[in-house]
Amino acid sequence: SHLPEAIRAKVNNHPCFSEDAHHHYARMHVAVAPACNIQCHYCNRKYDCSNESRPGVVSELLTPDQAVKKVLAVAANIPQMTVLGIAGPGDPLANPERTLETFRQLSEKAPDIRLCVSTNGLALPAVAEELSKHNIEHVTITINCVDPDVGAKIYPWIFWNNRRVKGRKAAEILIEQQQKGLEMLVERGVLVKVNSVLIPGVNDEHLKEVSRVVKAKGAFLHNVMPLIAEEEHGTFYGLMGQRGPTNEELQTLQDACAGDMAMMRHCRQCRADAVGMLGEDRGHEFTLDKIETME
Ligand code: SF4
Ligand code: SF4
Repeated sequence: SHLPEAIRAKVNNHPCFSEDAHHHYARMHVAVAPACNIQCHYCNRKYDCSNESRPGVVSELLTPDQAVKKVLAVAANIPQMTVLGIAGPGDPLANPERTLETFRQLSEKAPDIRLCVSTNGLALPAVAEELSKHNIEHVTITINCVDPDVGAKIYPWIFWNNRRVKGRKAAEILIEQQQKGLEMLVERGVLVKVNSVLIPGVNDEHLKEVSRVVKAKGAFLHNVMPLIAEEEHGTFYGLMGQRGPTNEELQTLQDACAGDMAMMRHCRQCRADAVGMLGEDRGHEFTLDKIETME
């Protein structure tokens, strides 16, 4: 394809990016980040963040020390374990001490494990430099819009400089930080993947523009994910009661955005504490009480 050699090498043996690699390599997520710094209309805070993870599940929250212990235990038991991600359950970069401490320890104790993190991007410019110094191979930014008018329909508020900012202004700041973070990472040689949540009637048409902008800035992959609208107590997931897209809507949009940039169609929106090969979850074998007895 069109990808530069260096990027292709990293992508080809990564379980999340290569259809082929995901049969041979395993990944895991550790849930060390409980807090979030924005509100998405589609979020239900009781569950994992949908930046990357499947909403509607609750992951076991770990301290950085516990997370490192778990990663080492899993790596010792699943030799294909090559990729470690932090994806929640809130926003990993809204909990910078916990997330960065986990990465610091891992790049020291398990230098062969490839690290990744996903974020809504609000706090990204503040930590982009530090992220580029650890073993972080790629960062996933969830970008649902590049237009504050669209953003105002997705984000009721953000928490910024110690206060709550609402409406269009909030969306404007978030978009600015996401774009700046994307640029900073690309400049520093960190791979950037962009996730977009397809919300029918809100950003479906607009995502083509998002795709164009992030490609132009150097994102290597754009992953359009369906809004998962789970029915809970008779109402649809999310404050606006949106429905999720149909398979056809999702495919049409993925085709429209594909262009010359690789699209990722096999992301499973794994839970924030997923363990194992893609499509399997062996997290129950590595709960805290079990890893205590593994030493
Ligand atoms: Fe929820 Fe994630 Fe949005 Fe934060 S970024 S409000 S945790 S979906
Ligand atoms: Fe890979 Fe997507 Fe699962 Fe993350 S959520 S581990 S990118 S398949």
